Amino acid sequence: MNKGLDRAPRFVAEYVLFHELLHAKHDVLYGRGKSLRRAVHTAGFKKDEWLYAHSREAEEWLKRNWR
Ligand SMILES: [Zn+2]
Repeated sequence: MNKGLDRAPRFVAEYVLFHELLHAKHDVLYGRGKSLRRAVHTAGFKKDEWLYAHSREAEEWLKRNWR
C-alpha cells in the first residue's frame, strides 16, 4: 500500500484498501477510445465503492490531503 497513507485517518486507509479489493472483484472492460481509468472504474465498480460506509468522507479527505 502507498506509504503516504501512514498519516491518513483509519477510515481513509480502509477506503483505499476497499477500493483496491474491488479491483480484484471487477474485471477491466477495455474499450476502444475509452481511457484506462474509465474502463477500470465502471458504473458497477462505483456502485460497489459506495457500499463502504465512509466512502464520501474518505473521498473528501483524499481530495483535500492527497497530492
Ligand atoms: Zn481504482
